Amino acid sequence: MKLGRRKFVKTSIAAGALASLNMKIPSIGELRQNVSELDHIARQPVFKKEFFNENVIIESLELTEYKGNYILKVTSKDGATGLSVSNNRHMAYLYPLLQQIVIPFFIGKDARNLDELVDGIYLHKSTYKLQGLALWISVATVEFAILDMMGRIANKPIPELIGDFNNKEISVYRANNYRGKSAEESLERIKKNVEETGAKALKFKIGGRMSNNADYPPGRTEKLIPMVREAFGYDMTIYADSNGSYTVDKAIEIGKLLEEYKYDFYEEPVPFDWLEETRDVANALSIPIAGGEQETSMRRFKWLIANNALQIVQPDLFYFGGMIRSMRVARMAESKGIPCIPHISNSGLGYIYMFHFVAALSNAGPYHEFKGINKKIPMVCDTSSLKSENGKVAVPSGPGLGITIDQGYLKKHSPVS
Ligand SMILES: [Mg+2]
Repeated sequence: MKLGRRKFVKTSIAAGALASLNMKIPSIGELRQNVSELDHIARQPVFKKEFFNENVIIESLELTEYKGNYILKVTSKDGATGLSVSNNRHMAYLYPLLQQIVIPFFIGKDARNLDELVDGIYLHKSTYKLQGLALWISVATVEFAILDMMGRIANKPIPELIGDFNNKEISVYRANNYRGKSAEESLERIKKNVEETGAKALKFKIGGRMSNNADYPPGRTEKLIPMVREAFGYDMTIYADSNGSYTVDKAIEIGKLLEEYKYDFYEEPVPFDWLEETRDVANALSIPIAGGEQETSMRRFKWLIANNALQIVQPDLFYFGGMIRSMRVARMAESKGIPCIPHISNSGLGYIYMFHFVAALSNAGPYHEFKGINKKIPMVCDTSSLKSENGKVAVPSGPGLGITIDQGYLKKHSPVS
């Protein structure tokens, strides 16, 4: 996998001809063609209903909660079950939407039509007006429970239901956020984290998060970028995430510094919904631009890909509405030679969903974010230690999600009303 065509382009042309990068901005005609090709790709089926001869009618979806942990249980008419753990941080205030709008739509439907169902909810009774993180986290919570159930019925792990089991192990990196600490202190902490995981890659935060160029403390970013590279050497893969810190000019200035020190990608250089500006930054730089973790619209993702605004796509598996929608983004990206490194937060079983999704990708990026499994949920897994060993985690390969949550712990949960 060539990570970032821009890197390739940069090294394959004379330095003085960098202006020719601008020729990569597609013309209107090319754009229309790009978009229609991507539309076609996004319409291809993801969920493999061919594994199921009989219909699987969704009889109930029950949400329970214990100490801020939200579990959704799906039961079919024939008594098959599956579980998901939601993005707990957000479900704490989103459950009325899940219960009043999303769940009723799925009841009585055939789970084999999962592709159509995640699209159907969007148009059902003007639900599209709610499009955003609130709607899609709720849909993802339902989708993940259904995928677990369908995997148990078919005796297949989730990656086989949405693609092929391409990646049995996931190489991970540790993300570090020490904004507010000096460059020196940030570096010491980053070193400690890297030692703990044995990872061959790392990511750290630059800028001030949606801060209109402010840095905390001032000058930290310019100091830290060279320091981190010098401390870890050129064999280490190093990513930088600005969380939308910059305006275009400043983003390009910081991007040039990242290029000088051979950083491997530059995430969210400008605020996430500055689509044209993201494209402008990408066009001015050779370092791959990563983004998409806040994106909730398929159409806008298509725009970002068609316009070469991103060289790495990062749909969040919850915020973007689950694995089927995220797989459509990954496939669109793949058609343009762009890798996918999905975003996920550590809330609930987040990383386990990430492992399954990445396992099914044929354009997975080389490293994926992992901060360790959430220890609040007692579970067993026969097929993976769920730990980073020499920088790699084995993907659970049992049916469905491939883990068993402790029964006693499940019983402590009570219905949410
Ligand atoms: Mg980020």
